[in-house]
Amino acid sequence: MKILLWIVFIAILLLGFRLLNIAKAKQRDNARRSSAMPPAEPMIRCACCGVYLPQKDAVPGPAGLTCGEPACIRPR
Ligand SMILES: [Zn+2]
Repeated sequence: MKILLWIVFIAILLLGFRLLNIAKAKQRDNARRSSAMPPAEPMIRCACCGVYLPQKDAVPGPAGLTCGEPACIRPR
């Protein structure tokens, strides 16, 4: 009768390990997802020299949004 208790004990132990592994895998999955998708920042292309830059760094120029270089802001 004692062996039955051991079997139940081991089964519970294995179940516990499995739940722990699932929780860990889920955590890893979440971490990977957040690192794979950084907060999206709108990028624009300089109308003059064609360089890509964040929209918040863009400077309005004669031909549209530019990178802010004096040569790009100045009308040619
Ligand atoms: Zn430019």
